[in-house]
Amino acid sequence: MSSPNAESTAFRSALEVIRAVEPRIADAIGAELADQRESLKLIASENYASPATLLAMGNWFSDKYAEGTVGRRFYAGCQNVDTVEALAAEHARELFGASHAYVQPHSGIDANLVAFWAILADRVESPALKRAQVRQVNDLTEEDWFALRRELGDQRMLGMSLDAGGHLTHGFRPNISGKMFDQRSYGTDPATGLIDYDRVAAAAREFRPLILVAGYSAYPRKVNFRIMREIADSVGATFMVDMAHFAGLVAGKVFTGDFDPVPHAHIVTTTTHKSLRGPRGGMVLCGPELADQVDRGCPMVLGGPLPHVMAAKAVALAEARRPDFADYAQRIVDNAQALAEGLLGRGATLVTGGTDNHLVLIDVSGYGLTGRQAEQALLDSGIVTNRNAVPQDPNGAWYTSGIRIGTPALTTRGLGAAEMDATAELIHTVLSQTTPGSNADGTPSKAKYVLDPALADKVSRQATDLLSTHPLYPSVTLT
Ligand SMILES: *Cc1c(COP(=O)(O)O)cnc(C)c1O
Repeated sequence: MSSPNAESTAFRSALEVIRAVEPRIADAIGAELADQRESLKLIASENYASPATLLAMGNWFSDKYAEGTVGRRFYAGCQNVDTVEALAAEHARELFGASHAYVQPHSGIDANLVAFWAILADRVESPALKRAQVRQVNDLTEEDWFALRRELGDQRMLGMSLDAGGHLTHGFRPNISGKMFDQRSYGTDPATGLIDYDRVAAAAREFRPLILVAGYSAYPRKVNFRIMREIADSVGATFMVDMAHFAGLVAGKVFTGDFDPVPHAHIVTTTTHKSLRGPRGGMVLCGPELADQVDRGCPMVLGGPLPHVMAAKAVALAEARRPDFADYAQRIVDNAQALAEGLLGRGATLVTGGTDNHLVLIDVSGYGLTGRQAEQALLDSGIVTNRNAVPQDPNGAWYTSGIRIGTPALTTRGLGAAEMDATAELIHTVLSQTTPGSNADGTPSKAKYVLDPALADKVSRQATDLLSTHPLYPSVTLT
């Protein structure tokens, strides 16, 4: 451990240097720390990276171009980038027990695009694609481009539906994956809210996808990846798992056996900034069969890698390999379960009736609210969450009927079961005291709501009190 004093000095000095050029940015950075310290952050996809991870990003690695892979770069002078990328990949392989790790993707969506193209290149006989891989994509002739579109155009993907907790990048229209693939989705059982593997198998038999995708951003349960792999095998599909949300639970060995995607999937993608607690970024893990194709992520999908972010990935992955990370991962789940019990005990309705991962999905229609109303009322009360569709959501993807809450961030701050119960009390208080508002013409509004400002203030103060015993970055003082 570095001394607390070193962390304070590092951030203070950085701000002093920035302030000399653009003081408003230094102020905004300071204000962001203050805001994050004061808010009860329950956004399931967010976390707080360590000072070491954050500091690894602010340096001259940011200035390097390093297209290519370790030892095979299109630029000279990449020996230190090679060190960084090789170390990040080694930590990733060791942590997850994968034979190959590609740590260049700039984000989760990029990691998925790299995986999709790797699978297409591996599975689809496309002369145009082969030519595209030999040259850079922007060297494609017009003719090759149209040939590529024709040859790849009707490939199929089966993924989890958005309202059941799937992700936009799994073949949905607003995302490019929805334009690349003919997509169909599997949902959850309307009675239990759980994935019904027999129905996934039936959908796979009927649709015969090239790619079966598992992974989610709003499903509060474990997924049995062994069964999903059997389904993929039964129809000759490549099985891909996007563990963006729960990578930290895999790293911390909370998800093992059938629930660890790495031994079961052909290819695994993830973000590094959610439960894994690293810098913003993405990563791909795979076996030797897809490794060469995955390594062509740059230039097929990505531009130059971000060496400063790869440095931070190496630091965060090194942290995740330490024994205390397993303890952290277990506490994330314990806290989510305590939060779920606290809410259920007070009468809230939860999708699937609880959780066995890091997130809880409240069906706020039980409080007579839309997700949009609930999200804003909670925000007024110092509780940061996000609205999310519930299965077969009558309010659609914009207003929604759900509130998604997650525990990775608060667990990093050190909050435990007692504080989770207190958090459940605050959430329940706000939601049960909020009523839907109406439009100017008297019709009911899906966005407006009525909440006594005095109550919102009171809950905000209680939220701040709850956090005061678990300060964020206790070692860092900026003044
Ligand atoms: C968050 C998320 C992504 C996208 O990650 P970005 O880094 O925001 O691009 C992809 N897939 C899943 C399942 C996610 O939850």
